Amino acid sequence: LASRLPNVGTTIFTVMSALATETGAVNLGQGFPDFNCDPALVDAVSTAMQAGLNQYPPMPGVPALREAISKKIEALYGRHYAAGSEITVTAGATQAIITCILSTVHPGDEVIVLEPCYDSYVPNIELAGGVVVRVPLTPGTFRPDFDKIAAAITPKTRAIIVNTPHNPSATVWKREDMLQLQDLLAPTNVLLISDEVYEHMVFDGQPHESAARYPGLAARAFIVSSFGKTYHVTGWKVGFVAAPAALSAEFRKVHQFNVFTVNTPVQHALAAYMANPQPYLDLPAFYQHKRDLFRAGLAKTRFKLLPSEGSYFQCVDISELAVPERSLPEADFCQWLTREIGVAAIPLSAFYGNGFDQHVVRFCFAKKDETLVSALERLARL
Ligand code: PMP
Ligand code: GLN
Repeated sequence: LASRLPNVGTTIFTVMSALATETGAVNLGQGFPDFNCDPALVDAVSTAMQAGLNQYPPMPGVPALREAISKKIEALYGRHYAAGSEITVTAGATQAIITCILSTVHPGDEVIVLEPCYDSYVPNIELAGGVVVRVPLTPGTFRPDFDKIAAAITPKTRAIIVNTPHNPSATVWKREDMLQLQDLLAPTNVLLISDEVYEHMVFDGQPHESAARYPGLAARAFIVSSFGKTYHVTGWKVGFVAAPAALSAEFRKVHQFNVFTVNTPVQHALAAYMANPQPYLDLPAFYQHKRDLFRAGLAKTRFKLLPSEGSYFQCVDISELAVPERSLPEADFCQWLTREIGVAAIPLSAFYGNGFDQHVVRFCFAKKDETLVSALERLARL
C-alpha cells in the first residue's frame, strides 16, 4: 500500500507513555494530569446523561456551550463571536486543527509552521496536499523571528500556525509579537490557525495574548482551544474553534463529515460548569505552584532550566549532567532516563522535521505534588 504518511510512525507521546508504563517510571512525558478533575464536573455529566441528553446534539455543538464559550472569549479577550455562526465545538483541539487545515488548504498551498511545533501539524498539512514551510523559532530562546517568517511568505501561502503558550518550549507570545504578526499579515490573505490550548496557563501575571484581542488577526483567525487542558480532562476530547462566520462556515462543511458532532452529555456538563469562571481563573496560580515546586527541585541538579512562562511544560538542557549519557541524542537520553532513572521525558527533537537535537528535553508538571517530588528524588541522582 502506498502510504499517505510514509514518514510517520507512532507519536512520541504514545511511545514514551508505553515505555513509562512498561518500566514503572514516573511519567513526566506525555502531557496530561495524573489527578482527577473537579467531581462537580463528573456529576454534571451524569446529570446530563440521566436527563436523557444522550442523542446527537446540533452539528456545531450544544447551543448553551457555544453561548458559554462566546461569553468567556468576550469577557477575557474583548471580542464577540456569535454562538450561532462563529463557534464550533470539536473533538479536542486535534480535530479542530486538522479540520481547519482540510477546510482551507488546497493541494499545493503552503502552510507555515514555526519549529519546534506540535506533532500533528505537519502530517495534517500533508494529508491536505499542502506544502509544509518550516520556519525555526530562534534557537535558545524560542522567540519568533519575524524576518524569517516574512521571508517565508509567498503568494502561495495559505496559512500560518501559531501556538501560544507554546508546546514544547513553554514560551508565551507578547503583545509586541502579536502586533508584529498582525502587521506582517496585513497586506496578505494568509489565514491564522491560532493554537491556544494552554490559554489559561500563563504565569507570573502575564496575560494570554489571544489572537481574538487583535482585530487584524481575529479577522483571519481560527482560534483553537481545548477543555481537556483547562478542566483536567484530556481524555474527554472536547475543544472548540472560534472564527469569523465565513471561515466557520467552511470549517463546518468539513466538520460535519469529519465527526458530524461531539459527545452530547459532556457538552451539556461543560456548559453548566462554565457558568462559574473561577476554575479557569484559578488555573494560572494552580499550575504556577507546580511549576515553582518542580523548578526549585531541578535547580538543585545539573539540569539547566529554560524559562517556563506558560503551558504545563518545563524544558531542561541536559548537556552539563554528570553522567556520560548526557552526550546521547535526546531521544536515546529520554529512553535511558525512563529505563534507568525512572522518569519519562520527551525529546525536543521530536518537534522538528529534521530531528534537530539541542540537548533539551521536556517534562510535564501537570502532576500531583507528590508525583513531582518523587520524580525530583530520582532526578537528583544526575
Ligand atoms: N495543540 C497543542 C499545542 C497541544 O499540546 C495539544 C495537546 N497535546 C493539542 C493541540 C491537542 O489537544 P486535544 O487533546 O484537545 O486534542
Ligand atoms: N499534547 C500532549 C503533549 O504534548 C500529548 C497529546 C497526545 O498524546 N497526542 O504531551
